[in-house]
Amino acid sequence: MGNVTIQRLLYGTLTFGVLLALLYVPLYHYQVSSVGKETQKPASIWYLETRLQRQIIHGSGGIPGERVIFERPDRYGTEKLNLHLKLGKNFNYTDPELLLGFLTYGFNTVLSKRLGIKRDVPDSRNKMCLKKQYPTKLPTASVVICFHNEEFNALLRTVSSVISLTPHKILEEIILVDDMSDFDDLKDKLDHHLEIFRGKIKVIRNKKRQGLIRARLIGAARASGDVLVFLDSHCEVNKKWLQPLLSAIAKDRRTVACPMLDTIDRVTLKYQPSPMVRGIFNWNLQFKWDNVFSYEMEGPEGPTAPIRSPAMSGGIFAIHRHYFYEIGQYDKEMNYWGGENVELSLRIWMCGGQLFMMPCSRVGHINKRSTRNTTESVRALVHNSLRVVHVWLDEYKEQYFLGRPGLKSIPYGNISERVELRKRLGCKSFQWYLDTVFPELEMSNNRKPRPNHFH
Ligand code: UDP
Ligand code: MN
Repeated sequence: MGNVTIQRLLYGTLTFGVLLALLYVPLYHYQVSSVGKETQKPASIWYLETRLQRQIIHGSGGIPGERVIFERPDRYGTEKLNLHLKLGKNFNYTDPELLLGFLTYGFNTVLSKRLGIKRDVPDSRNKMCLKKQYPTKLPTASVVICFHNEEFNALLRTVSSVISLTPHKILEEIILVDDMSDFDDLKDKLDHHLEIFRGKIKVIRNKKRQGLIRARLIGAARASGDVLVFLDSHCEVNKKWLQPLLSAIAKDRRTVACPMLDTIDRVTLKYQPSPMVRGIFNWNLQFKWDNVFSYEMEGPEGPTAPIRSPAMSGGIFAIHRHYFYEIGQYDKEMNYWGGENVELSLRIWMCGGQLFMMPCSRVGHINKRSTRNTTESVRALVHNSLRVVHVWLDEYKEQYFLGRPGLKSIPYGNISERVELRKRLGCKSFQWYLDTVFPELEMSNNRKPRPNHFH
């Protein structure tokens, strides 16, 4: 009898904890989105809560989901909140394992376990891609995958898909960088499972959490392939994914090549082909996907032609290893996550390189709900974006501050090294970038000044 009471108590506490934490998952997700989705503007937690509540009340046109009502203590007392989870009507909201998996990893880990460490995904390429021939001699690639507290099966599916869909002779190695994960299964058990891949894999374990930007640099420093290919730790590559990226770089080593990102649904883990897109950003430096101009696909190569892209989404791209160092890798003073993709995109274009989306290279990425800590991420995103603004935007920096004048007084560290790099590389002006690469940005309407919510 006593045991039953204790069990109920434990269960009750767990459920309450889960529900409480669930508030913060969509809250964060609403703030800073994952690869391939528009990011929201940095703001205070309270502002975000108001936005979230408004979103809950008015809905946001997504998949209908379960409405969970729970009580949450706050600074004014106890508040009843309706939380619209939007995970679809087939999602079992009463399954604690499922909920806990979502909270910890941001996607359906029950299904992920069931899928295991290897599966086939549908070929999402345009049929014309199947006729494409690639040179027999291509540069070799070091695939760098950083992870922090990744779900075991998703990580192993990433690795096994790369191994099984990449010709042996162009895959120099896979470098896994464990960015100080806490979970036990990512230690000995992971090492044990990687043994089956026989020596193609190097594992680096950071002694301190470095954040994605510095973790990638640590991986890159250990690479020996001609080309660095960065992947997230919850991807599945598609057929012939690497050849288009390597052949674009082989033609011109100052080309940076991105695969088209297909979506792996966070609830169903279904692999869904995405349309042709290019990467852009707005005056807040928020990345988003954009339609491709039809003339890009009207040449002899049709829908298989590389697509000029003003920006990259972030984690998934290929770059010549030496070129990566020549153009100044990443800004090491950037923290944690965010903004580095816009910085690298501007640097590539303005300093003599080019950035393409390769339609015949497809990589699936789980569109997980972010599990990042909100305050820390917002702070890092603002810090990183300010560094981009002050190094790269020239007289256009005022456009960034127009809607958020409060950010003008926020410190962003010392940028002299990056300003020096820009001079040394003889990079062109931001005006040149607007005129030549991304005229739509200049034509886009600037927002009117509005109250600053960042404190
Ligand atoms: N990551 C990392 N250290 C961090 C944060 C993230 O190594 O401090 C890894 C993470 O495990 C993932 C990649 O960096 O493989 C990109 O992060 P995430 O998927 O959260 O970014 P998103 O896809 O949402 O842009
Ligand atoms: Mn990701």
